[in-house]
Amino acid sequence: MTARLIDGKAYAAGLRQRVAEAAAAFKAKQNRAPGLAVVLVGEHPPSAAYVRSKVKATVEAGMESFEHKLPTDCSQGELMALVDELNADPAVDGILVQLPLPKHVDELAVLLRIDPDKDVDGFHPMNAGRLAVGLEALVPCTPLGCLMLLQHELGDLSGLDAIVVGRSNIVGKPMAQLLVRASCTVTVAHSRTRDLPGAVRRSDIVVAAVGRPEMIRGHWLKPGATVIDVGQERVEQPDGSRKLLGDVAFDEALEVAGAITPVPGGVGPMTIACLLRNTAVAAHRRAGLSDPEGL
Ligand code: NAP
Repeated sequence: MTARLIDGKAYAAGLRQRVAEAAAAFKAKQNRAPGLAVVLVGEHPPSAAYVRSKVKATVEAGMESFEHKLPTDCSQGELMALVDELNADPAVDGILVQLPLPKHVDELAVLLRIDPDKDVDGFHPMNAGRLAVGLEALVPCTPLGCLMLLQHELGDLSGLDAIVVGRSNIVGKPMAQLLVRASCTVTVAHSRTRDLPGAVRRSDIVVAAVGRPEMIRGHWLKPGATVIDVGQERVEQPDGSRKLLGDVAFDEALEVAGAITPVPGGVGPMTIACLLRNTAVAAHRRAGLSDPEGL
């Protein structure tokens, strides 16, 4: 068997186009575009690169981008004051504080300060709780993107056995909640799971969010399984170059799986697309409008 490739890049491009259309329609009704504020603290180069690409994508979708940069040594109070200002600003529909924050800053306190209605990362416990009890929520971007790819690939997920490997608050746990909501039978695996290969082997859907390159081997998979690989780690190759690898041994999995996301080009592009989607949705909800169709 050679697995189908799930083209996250193409799906994300379509989603971004639909977000742009929704943003234009919103602007026509409300006389302003949806707005996303991004806060970067310090000089951490990967964070600065993520922020640049988020700002660029926001502008390309026809939305307002508000960029705030604070120095590494900014105080907790200064950051909280900025979040308060953004919470109160009617032009701001989404607030994203780029993580990680410097060590002296209490990250949870900052996330808790963000208005849950503007929490486009979906990290606020209010949104995590709303997702868990089946209420309307803003859902973390990466797992939301994974769910979209799964539904695009498989249609109705109801009754399928799914495993999520990883239980982080930003990927694993919300992914499991989304799959439960889609009526899958869900196993959540982690570093203490006793027989991971056996648990993977029973699953029609495998979502890998571990951060251990190529940990999940091809022979662990159930033949025909759909594999979503969230992992992305840069690994030095024998020739000194650095290669981006997922959590699944891709070449082996290709022989067994029914469909699989490549790394790069699978889940990665969905994360920013879903951030834009969440911003458009937040703008509509805050304006008392129903969620835009197709998002
Ligand atoms: P994380 O917070 O480090 O969580 C990793 C999870 O993997 C933990 O729950 C951990 O279990 C589990 N784990 C570690 N070793 C394991 C093992 N041997 N067997 C089974 N489970 C094991 O990581 P994360 O933030 O969720 O990210 C995971 C990966 O996704 C990373 O490669 C990250 O770069 C990538 N990622 C990609 C995107 C994207 O846009 N594509 C977005 C976010 C993250 P314990 O809880 O027991 O420690």
